[in-house]
Amino acid sequence: VANEKESMYLVSEFAQKYFHHTLLETEEGKAIGLTYFKERGFTSETIKKFGLGYSTDSWDAFTKEALGKGYKLEFLDKTGLTIVKEEEGKTFDRFKGRVMFPIHSMSGRVLGFGGRILTNDKKAAKYVNSPESDIYHKSKVLYGIFHAKQAIAKQDNCYLVEGYTDVIQFNQAGIENVVASSGTALTPDQIRLVSRLTRNITVLFDGDAAGLRASIRGIDLILEAGMNVKVCAFPDGEDPDSFAKKTPYNELVSFLEENAKDFIQFKASLLVKEANNDPIKKAELIRDMVNSIGKIPDRIKREVYIQECSRIMDISEEVLFNTLAQIDKKEL
Ligand code: ATP
Ligand code: MN
Ligand code: MN
Ligand code: MN
Repeated sequence: VANEKESMYLVSEFAQKYFHHTLLETEEGKAIGLTYFKERGFTSETIKKFGLGYSTDSWDAFTKEALGKGYKLEFLDKTGLTIVKEEEGKTFDRFKGRVMFPIHSMSGRVLGFGGRILTNDKKAAKYVNSPESDIYHKSKVLYGIFHAKQAIAKQDNCYLVEGYTDVIQFNQAGIENVVASSGTALTPDQIRLVSRLTRNITVLFDGDAAGLRASIRGIDLILEAGMNVKVCAFPDGEDPDSFAKKTPYNELVSFLEENAKDFIQFKASLLVKEANNDPIKKAELIRDMVNSIGKIPDRIKREVYIQECSRIMDISEEVLFNTLAQIDKKEL
């Protein structure tokens, strides 16, 4: 089994090199893939750093190349790089005609890929990812962690974004302590990866309804892990990629500093924005805040947040403590 995994790593590494080469050295790759990345504002240096690639718009060009180089179909199949249709006895490239984002482990091995279509065809999936396999568990990896780990430790903070391009655009802007959950809801295993490097996470999700919901879910998981969480909301319709692309470095840094709120402030801002201070909504929100506070293992931190909640929401600490005690009881 150890050998099987090693074979899967090797074929994934080969695929990464092949897609990267196709992007930079072939006519189709340059005309389609490279043009696409350049339009998104990625420099050659960035493309190299993240090992980005392009998979030819052909049914089986990659599979043929890999087989020709002696890689076994078994491992092309197990990594999901090749789709094997047993009934027809045919094999297909999974990522046909897509730009490729290799996904690395903490130690820099290629585990799998995300592939993006180049058109805005609403019928096709925008991103296709490698399937779960013995080397790729999507709930246990964070995109960008290999390139971010040193900066996360040094800055003692980790920016958490949603997508590949958010990570890449931030890196290009000079902010390297950033990782993406890449289309899965944040998981405890992903948080554990970060917790080896820092106790502080700043959530930077897309400025849309889905991003907002994901941020709210993420908060409780991060608190439960005993970590500190801040949330920075982006303007409507912007994500970290689009925002960083058009914002000079100094402005980006001050935007992040000024808008990163602790979870009490963040939730309070939702009440003003979305509920227009409606008293029923306000009561619901306070309960929700106390719920989140109840996730924090550390008693002192709990008390500090109860005090903050009391101050911001203008409600007595006593009521909040009682509510917290009720929640604790229910959980027992
Ligand atoms: P882009 O800027 O290239 O349009 P994005 O990263 O902003 O993409 P979002 O729609 O915000 O894309 O989605 C965030 C992340 O969720 C993506 O980067 C990708 O990892 C994942 N994702 C999005 N759509 C899909 C999909 N159809 N299948 C699998 N994963 C997806
Ligand atoms: Mn989004
Ligand atoms: Mn996005
Ligand atoms: Mn985007």
